[in-house]
Amino acid sequence: MSAHAIEIAIVGAAGRMGTQLLQEAASLDTLKISAAIVAPQSAHIGQALGPEGIIATDDLDAIATVDVVIDFSSPDACARVAELAAGAGVAMVSGTTGLNAEQHRALDQAACSIPLLLAANFSVGVNLLAHLVELASRGFGKDADIEIFEAHHRRKVDAPSGTALMLGRAAARGRDWNLEDVATWAREGHTGPRDDDEIGFQVLRGADIVGEHTVYLCAAGERLELTHRATDRAIFARGALRAARWLAGKPAGRYQMRDLLFGDA
Ligand code: NAD
Repeated sequence: MSAHAIEIAIVGAAGRMGTQLLQEAASLDTLKISAAIVAPQSAHIGQALGPEGIIATDDLDAIATVDVVIDFSSPDACARVAELAAGAGVAMVSGTTGLNAEQHRALDQAACSIPLLLAANFSVGVNLLAHLVELASRGFGKDADIEIFEAHHRRKVDAPSGTALMLGRAAARGRDWNLEDVATWAREGHTGPRDDDEIGFQVLRGADIVGEHTVYLCAAGERLELTHRATDRAIFARGALRAARWLAGKPAGRYQMRDLLFGDA
C-alpha cells in the first residue's frame, strides 16, 4: 500500500457494482477501501466483503473519515450521500442513474462545497462514443434522423438507461437542441409520421446483458450506426476508481468523465 493511498468509502458495497469495485480496488496500491456501506437492514451488515474482507456497515457517517466516497446505490441514497459528503468535505464519485430533478439539485448543492463527479457510464469507450455522436450529429445536421437503442440485463430498474440519455444529450448538443424538447420516449399505435426535430429511444431488457448502446443516424441513402458493447462490468468499476483518484484534491464543482478524459487530466 502506497504511503499516500487515497481512502475510499463505497456506498452500495454489496451490489453488483459495489462487488466489482471491491474486487478491482484490491489490486491497486494507490487506493485503500476504508468503508463498505450497505443498505439499512441489509443481510450483509457485519459481513466481510471483497478480497480484503472489509466489514460491511449501514452507517453512512463512515464516509466522513475518507478522502472520496464512491456511490453506486439508489437515487435516494445518492442524494443523501451527496448531502453528507458536502457536510464532511469529502469528494464524491457517483454512477447511480435514474435521479430525478430534485435529486440532481441536491447534487448541484453539494458541488458548491465539494468536487463531485457523476457519470451515467464510466467506460472510456462510451465517453468517446458520446464525443463521436456529437460530431456526427453536427456533421449530418438536419439530413439525418437520430434514434438511440439500448439493451440491458433484466434487473435494471430505470429506462431509458442513463447512458442512452447521455448519448441523447450529445446528439442534441450537435444540433443545438435541448434533449427534453425533442425526445420521443416510446412509440405505439397510430403515431403519425416522424418529426424532423426528434430523437427517438428504444429499450430492450433481457437476461444478463451488461450494456449495449447504438446511435443511428439515418440519412436518405445512407445510415451511420455508432455502437458500444460492454461485456464486463469491471470497465465501470475501473473507470470509477480512476475518477476517484483524479477527483481527490480538485476544487469544488460538478465534474464529468469528459473533464477527466479530454480536460486537464
Ligand atoms: P444493485 O442493485 O446490484 O446494487 C445497488 C446496491 O445499493 C444494493 O446492494 C442496495 O442494497 C444498495 N443500497 C440501496 N440503498 C442504499 C443505502 N441507503 N445505503 C447503502 N447501500 C444502499 O445495482 P448495480 O447494478 O450495482 O447498480 C447501482 C447503480 O449504478 C444503478 O443506478 C445503476 O444504473 C448504476 N450503474 C452505473 C454504471 C456507470 O458506469 N455509471 C454502471 C453500472 C450500473
